[in-house]
Amino acid sequence: MVLRVTPPSNGLGLRGDKNPFHEVKVGGQLSIVVLVGDGMSDRRVSILGDRTPLQYSRNRNMCLISKLGENGIIDPISPGVTPGSDTAHIALLGYDPFEIYTGRGVLEALGSGISLKRGDIAFRCNFCTLDEKGVIVDRRAGRIREDGEILAKSLDGIRISGVKIKFKQALAHRCVLVLRGKKISHEVTDTDPKRVGVKPLIPKGRGEDGERTAEILREFLNIAKETLSEHPVNKERIRKGLPPANFILLRGASFLPEVQKFKERFGVNGACIAGMSLVKGVARLLGLDVVEVEGATGGLDTDVLSKADATISSLDKYDFVLVNVKGTDEASHDGKVFEKVNMIEKIDLLLGRILEEKGIEELTIAVTADHTTPLEVKKHTGDPVPVAIYSKSARRDSTRLFDEISCSSGSIGRISGKNLLPIMFNLEGIGEEFGE
Ligand code: ZN
Ligand code: ZN
Repeated sequence: MVLRVTPPSNGLGLRGDKNPFHEVKVGGQLSIVVLVGDGMSDRRVSILGDRTPLQYSRNRNMCLISKLGENGIIDPISPGVTPGSDTAHIALLGYDPFEIYTGRGVLEALGSGISLKRGDIAFRCNFCTLDEKGVIVDRRAGRIREDGEILAKSLDGIRISGVKIKFKQALAHRCVLVLRGKKISHEVTDTDPKRVGVKPLIPKGRGEDGERTAEILREFLNIAKETLSEHPVNKERIRKGLPPANFILLRGASFLPEVQKFKERFGVNGACIAGMSLVKGVARLLGLDVVEVEGATGGLDTDVLSKADATISSLDKYDFVLVNVKGTDEASHDGKVFEKVNMIEKIDLLLGRILEEKGIEELTIAVTADHTTPLEVKKHTGDPVPVAIYSKSARRDSTRLFDEISCSSGSIGRISGKNLLPIMFNLEGIGEEFGE
């Protein structure tokens, strides 16, 4: 089947009718995989003898991609800019985050399976714990899990001044709030002070619609406080000695941006496998299908082999699959050095299973990270990340190892996140000449 694609409107630096992705074959005939170790890239770590976790770990399969393919480093957004997982994945999927990113709320909502309409305003939220004076003592309510769903339901479906409120648990303490109605705006401030020992902030709005939205939110938060503190689930949590989820913190108000869908843009049908709702949200925003995997938790306990199997079976149906494994980032934020090393080795096993089952020569595959999260910083930083690409038609450079330093001397050099997919598609022969 041949599909005619409309020219990309952004990100590729190409406008007008000469589109390099003009006519391409579609329908699970290609096997293009991008494997993303979330926050896998690092700086040198003193207890690893000044090596990075990638340099220290036994990542045999990643090194095989490096050895048989081309290598380089990626600035996910641009040099020195610290990426979020959301903006980094937008870029790794071939889009310009500066053009389409409107905030995290919309992505969390899409990621947790809420379908959005134009005009909806979405927020990401946390269940939190307040003491009797209304001061935040735990921003994540003890990382509440199962109890969160029932609590979220008690806040779902409320109507205030004609605006319908949807409230849903995303993963653990993370939730999503969506406002649907007339005369509402994303121009409202966050209520999350991002630290404990202080009271939540009061939402404020800008402009007429923003102020009305803030007023609705203030009323909703009053209802939420009352409902949650009276809820039997929380009374039970207190009895068990667990922190009650007696309030919510809001941030990342955003609206649905207009986006050219992935298949329309590249002529390739794609899927995404991720435990984290934020990454699923990015995928849904760009028109990729999200493949749900049993055991993909987004944490250190995630089942990497079932993710590998899901990737292999998805390649029967899709030309392109992005797989994200979050555990490396979680270990980095917590400063857990050997958990990170262990997670890298689990990602390497995942890669090994794909290579073994599919056969490396059948694949065009890239291994990379969405950003650097140094264990000694415990936050994302703007350092570039390593990338290795294998395709049977790719050049083979002299890099033998997959890590931040070895890849930097590879033949790809230093590229921007949004360049990755065009480079991989070129190796697959997708695209036409630009000019004559
Ligand atoms: Zn990330
Ligand atoms: Zn992170």
